[in-house]
Amino acid sequence: MDSGSVQSVRRSSQLARNFCAAILAISIVWLASATAFPADEMTSTIIIGNSRIDVNIEQGAMQSSKEDLMKWVRWAAESVTAYYGRFPVPQLLLRIVPSDGKGVRGGRTFGRDNGGFITIHIGKDAQFSDLARDWMLTHEMVHLSFPSVADNHHWIEEGIATYVEPIARVRARHFDANQMWFEVMRDLHQGLPAEGDEGLDHTHTWGRTYWGGALFCFLADIEIHRETGNKKGLQDALRGILNAGGDISHDWELEKALTIGDQATGAPVLQNLYTKMKDQPYNVDLPALWTQLGIERDGNAVKFLDAAPLAKTRDAITYGSAGPTLKPAASALHGSAIFAGHTTTRFPPDKSSD
Ligand SMILES: [Zn+2]
Repeated sequence: MDSGSVQSVRRSSQLARNFCAAILAISIVWLASATAFPADEMTSTIIIGNSRIDVNIEQGAMQSSKEDLMKWVRWAAESVTAYYGRFPVPQLLLRIVPSDGKGVRGGRTFGRDNGGFITIHIGKDAQFSDLARDWMLTHEMVHLSFPSVADNHHWIEEGIATYVEPIARVRARHFDANQMWFEVMRDLHQGLPAEGDEGLDHTHTWGRTYWGGALFCFLADIEIHRETGNKKGLQDALRGILNAGGDISHDWELEKALTIGDQATGAPVLQNLYTKMKDQPYNVDLPALWTQLGIERDGNAVKFLDAAPLAKTRDAITYGSAGPTLKPAASALHGSAIFAGHTTTRFPPDKSSD
């Protein structure tokens, strides 16, 4: 994962938010073209658990084979399934668009009745190694798992996607836990409040939206583990919200989602933390937290210190209730299958998240 590209892509998403009126007008035009698929485009279907993912590959020269692209989609789907216990929506249409350059170039996620729609751009020169280390498609799929909330709470949508994505890939054994913590340790400080900050609901900078939201999730995860003796974590709260019907195809008040999340863990952590972080800067001593969790920078990796007071919490966040014994990949748990065919699909998305 290249942190430079991570930042530029996420920043450009945030800049787009700053011109939302203009973007809305552009989006209407864009959606009209995005949903009218030519009949000769290739659509394949992945079944994962009880969910169906129709993958539409737009015509165009690409170095990646169709098999590579389908494997990449399946890995992302396995990752979110491993974290949430199931794929978040019954139906997803995924549109893959060839673009200039190398690697995965950015995506957007939309809700619609009974499911979601993701469009993602891939560089024509992308190799399978670029797809194998990609985080963006998992990030977009995590967006499917949370309800649409008002624009001033956009930080919770991006924060969950930013925080959960690498953990989800670790859970499905598609990402290394050491690298995951190395990157969290490297990047999370970007979510801390700067001078003049007015809280997450009122400070719509790139850093506070993506990493400030991720910081909220990280603090909530630690606190839920603390209050439940490491029996429950943010994962349980987010599964509770999803299983109460809170996926991207529904508009919810944020408070409703937080209340349901807290009911799922039995600890009012999300609501209390929201009260502290929504309209004021809430400073966090991240170096002290790394020490308590037993995570120490070691060159381009980290060392895990098991004598640290929150070492068990660190393992529970990383691996879930199974502990450091890695779970089997989600495909082994849920089964997945790929079918190929030629279809034309029209999909009218109505809600979106970067
Ligand atoms: Zn996003």
